[in-house]
Amino acid sequence: MALSPSKTSELLRQLEHRPNKKLGQNFLIDGNLVEKSISMASLPTNYPVLEIGPGLGTLTSHLLNLGHTVYAVEIDRRLEAHLREILNSFIESGQFNLVRADAVKQPIGNLPDDITEYSVVANLPYAISSAWLESLLGSEKLPTSMVMMLQKEATERMLAPPGTKAYNALAIFLQASYQQRGYHSVPGQCFYPAPAVASALLKMEKKTEPYLFAKETRSLIRRIFTQRRKQIGSLLKKEEHEIQQIMTSWLEENNICSTTRPEKISVDQWIKLGGQFPSTN
Ligand code: SAM
Repeated sequence: MALSPSKTSELLRQLEHRPNKKLGQNFLIDGNLVEKSISMASLPTNYPVLEIGPGLGTLTSHLLNLGHTVYAVEIDRRLEAHLREILNSFIESGQFNLVRADAVKQPIGNLPDDITEYSVVANLPYAISSAWLESLLGSEKLPTSMVMMLQKEATERMLAPPGTKAYNALAIFLQASYQQRGYHSVPGQCFYPAPAVASALLKMEKKTEPYLFAKETRSLIRRIFTQRRKQIGSLLKKEEHEIQQIMTSWLEENNICSTTRPEKISVDQWIKLGGQFPSTN
């Protein structure tokens, strides 16, 4: 695999492929980081892995050579063709399943229905990392663990506690189901081309009792967070009558004052709100 800037640029030249900035094509060129991602994941033997954006296949081939089954989603046609060529034997044996799709629309790719336990290991395209994660958390099938390469700023938002500027709807959805299990800062020179932003590897593990918000509650929380500095009592008045009633009793039962700002409300309190709605995912 191409694990140096010169080998990667030579491979891209052979493929007549210019890294697409919009698709976050910053390829891993540091072998230690590939090892680190895999060791952080601490996967059981021959475990199913979902990879978003396999790119040139660096992480993918390591996972496959270790015996894991990889389900990957790649949007780029040329990279898809390259992956099909270099990893053909794994495709034929059924160990590698690749789908060309937008991971936001197909967050778990072609993961078969009968696979209920799997992990995510991915160097995510930064532009869609939040949208993909939100889409995944809205799907019925949550991974056991996720090791994700992300923009550092995105990890701060995902892990943000209540009362901080970075606390948002996605942090609530993620923290309701996952807890942080690892973190590793990553310098820009580990990628080709080097991204303009700082990166980090984040490991999240599914809680013993994960809470999945229903679609309706997710939309409501997202709406509320567009006005995070307003008081919850005035925000609920903008909702339909039925939602207003549910929210009013939620505030009362949980001793949340109507002057509280949404950004101060804890994940557990939001979960209690979710519990007041009929689950219509
Ligand atoms: N995994 C490779 C590596 O570590 O070198 C490449 C990672 S690169 C940061 C992100 C990859 O995601 C690229 O291959 C890009 O084409 C792909 N990608 C970008 N947007 C995508 C989307 N919406 N759905 C699926 N793949 C996407």
